[in-house]
Amino acid sequence: MPENVDVAVVGGGVIGLSVARELRLAGVERVVVLEREPAVGQGSSSRANGGVRAQFTTSANIQFSAFSIGELERLDRETGLLSFRQTGYLLLTGTETGERSLREAFQLQRSLGVMAEWLTPRQVLERVPFVRPDGLLAGTFHARDGFLDPHGVVAAMRLEAERLAVRVELGAEVVAIGRAAGGLLEVATRRRTLRARWVVNAAGPSAARVASLLGVELPVTPVRRNLAYVREPDGPVELIPMCVDLDTGVLVRREASGGFVVAWSDPDEPPSWDTTVDPGFLEALGERVGHRFPMLEELPIDPRQCWAGLYPETPDHHAVIGEVAEAPGFVQCAGFGGHGVMHSPAAGRAVAELVTTGGCASFDLRPLRPSRFAEGDLVVETAVL
Ligand SMILES: Cc1cc2nc3c(=O)[nH]c(=O)nc-3n(C[C@H](O)[C@H](O)[C@H](O)COP(=O)(O)OP(=O)(O)OC[C@H]3O[C@@H](n4cnc5c(N)ncnc54)[C@H](O)[C@@H]3O)c2cc1C
Repeated sequence: MPENVDVAVVGGGVIGLSVARELRLAGVERVVVLEREPAVGQGSSSRANGGVRAQFTTSANIQFSAFSIGELERLDRETGLLSFRQTGYLLLTGTETGERSLREAFQLQRSLGVMAEWLTPRQVLERVPFVRPDGLLAGTFHARDGFLDPHGVVAAMRLEAERLAVRVELGAEVVAIGRAAGGLLEVATRRRTLRARWVVNAAGPSAARVASLLGVELPVTPVRRNLAYVREPDGPVELIPMCVDLDTGVLVRREASGGFVVAWSDPDEPPSWDTTVDPGFLEALGERVGHRFPMLEELPIDPRQCWAGLYPETPDHHAVIGEVAEAPGFVQCAGFGGHGVMHSPAAGRAVAELVTTGGCASFDLRPLRPSRFAEGDLVVETAVL
């Protein structure tokens, strides 16, 4: 006989673990996480840069960040596992279009209670004197942004989930999802079958494949993203804000143990499952990094200290959260692109409210609803890093 549970969460990445934890906090009794790998957090969550920012351009993403930053601060205080360094994010631009977009985003953030600061070029240079000032027009800074250890977030989420009696099953790849009697869904792994009132698809870059098991089309695609570690000749020095040159898309932070992590996302990278470092990435970075970060021009980038992983991307750079109309009980929680680690607390809370109350009081989930693609009603996030 298949075992009955209340919710089966497919995927034990940062999102699935957060969802499971919030479901238990909301009073759902039998919650199971099904993870195909022998350990949790081995997918995109293990490749992330750990950036956390509230400086987005849409209400949906800003509100997810504002809630999540508070939760990540709490989780770090209570577990000591996150190494959350609130260095702030500093966004820089030297173009008039960039300044206009930055101003609009800044005003929206302030209207939603995010206390970002507007900086003149002089104020930027007071904070980050190493930045090349040529043509700089403006910057914005939010002090509660920063970076953390993504593995620490996974560990803390798992710790809290298991303390709340969530069952995490490893080596449990979901290979079929079907309808069962009584409005239940049937979820099969290679070893056994579960019956659940709700199934949550938190399969990261594989979410479209999992959705297709029940005939649901989900536009979440895997897109490779690369990161480089650059050694510094001198040992650890002071941390710097996460600096983003909006004109080239290059992002730089200093590691607590010294050296820089540098990122650049090719906007034209096609979807693929390739997680090897793109050789073109180093060249592209080399052409752009000196625009604002001259101190990195002279430092060697060692290809052996680069890594790549997959963004679970959507066409509008927003996650997909909600029950699918044609598949009652099947909730999507995927497509977090480059912001899944930072948004995992809000994602978990949103799904828990949907499952327990049928709606979401904490956030407006309309811009994230699964049907928006078929309806052609998309709100696009443009601060994609
Ligand atoms: C290079 C890089 C840098 C990034 N930087 C940041 C950053 O700075 N800040 C930030 O917030 N985010 C960042 N991200 C994005 C972030 O890593 C993702 O958005 C986030 O990890 C998505 O979490 P997830 O749980 O949805 O996916 P995953 O971590 O991939 O988890 C999905 C899980 O589902 C499992 N699974 C899949 N199919 C099945 C199945 N059929 N049955 C059972 N299990 C299944 C997988 O094994 C996996 O463990 C970055 C990502 C990359 C690649």
